[in-house]
Amino acid sequence: MMMNKKTVEDIDVTGKKVLVRCDFNVPLDSDGKITDENRIIGALPTIKYLLSKNAKVILCSHMGRPKGEFNMKYTLKPVSDRLGEILGKKVVLAKDVVGEDAKKCISEMNDGDIVMLENVRFHAEEEKNDPAFSKALAELAQIYVNDAFGTAHRAHASTAGVADYLPAVCGYLIQKEIAVMGKALADPERPFVAILGGAKISGKIDVIENLIDKVDTLIIGGGMAYTFIKAMGGKIGASLCEDEKLDLANETLKKAKAKGVNLLLPETTVVADKFDADAQSKTVPTSEIPDGWMGMDIGAETVVAFSEAIKSAKTVVWNGPMGVFEFPRFAEGTKKVAEAVANCGGVTIIGGGDSAAAVEQLGFADKMTHISTGGGASLEFLEGKILPGIDCLQDK
Ligand code: AMP
Repeated sequence: MMMNKKTVEDIDVTGKKVLVRCDFNVPLDSDGKITDENRIIGALPTIKYLLSKNAKVILCSHMGRPKGEFNMKYTLKPVSDRLGEILGKKVVLAKDVVGEDAKKCISEMNDGDIVMLENVRFHAEEEKNDPAFSKALAELAQIYVNDAFGTAHRAHASTAGVADYLPAVCGYLIQKEIAVMGKALADPERPFVAILGGAKISGKIDVIENLIDKVDTLIIGGGMAYTFIKAMGGKIGASLCEDEKLDLANETLKKAKAKGVNLLLPETTVVADKFDADAQSKTVPTSEIPDGWMGMDIGAETVVAFSEAIKSAKTVVWNGPMGVFEFPRFAEGTKKVAEAVANCGGVTIIGGGDSAAAVEQLGFADKMTHISTGGGASLEFLEGKILPGIDCLQDK
């Protein structure tokens, strides 16, 4: 899936009103203070570029789930305040989205000014991708820029619908997602190693299906590995298992073999006598887990085997933890795999969500080629699906 979408650099923005859809859905504490401003930082390159071209920058985002009603619990004020501090520049927050105040704020803009619209999900029409609402958004501006990869898998008014009414291009964040992940899927440097983990096969089967046609090695860890082990006739004790997915697991194993994909499952597993941070634990062969014990992490021998495969990769895509990494004692496998990916000299891509959080927590973030900014969106991208928020943008 190679995509060649126009970017902010491919369109004349000077002096124009540019509506930029960002993902400013940042986590807040109970006092409304931002606890992680990565998403604001991520939006800066596009905003700064537009300012450098003297555009009138109109920012738009959702925040939380206000369920289609004005509710100041979900105001974007913390974001407009913080963005203003970072830029050293006034960011005017409109009191509404497409109403009188937004129109007034925009009419008063000079070139190089910034206005932020209120939370776009204060309107139920947003998530319904209502054409009239999309049109109302479009009427505020002359150009639309989508830079919100985290919502690119949703066909909402501000992520897709608005592109029916304005010239639409991508910002730098989406451009990078497309460039790095698109290249890995369409034309990867080999060997191409995919690492999949997390709780369930059902959440990732479409990713497995899509990647199995492309990868040289598929590494499967985490809770989803046990359904495969059981399908192969192993004893998995009380480990996570999706019995209704046993046939599917078998088919995947067959497909991997037919295609010559090197499929690696954990040979050894750290098991616990209960699902608890302080449970008793020991390492056993994954196909001989005693009754009553459950797999919580990959074993040390498996870490070595997985790391060996990762070391020589030219492209790595990773999505999902290798174990119950929320419990420190069962985080070792995920940590070590993160380290192996960080030390790999090839292109390394971390899917959003848990694996991205793990890599950031462990301090490996700057060693990766790319950490996707979208959880659901990056999964759908890896599934080979067309994302509406990208599809709606102009091709080069
Ligand atoms: P996902 O959202 O599918 O990527 O799954 C992430 C979750 O999988 C994390 O909360 C992990 O704790 C969980 N997980 C990983 N390995 C296991 C395991 N062996 N048993 C139970 N849960 C697991």
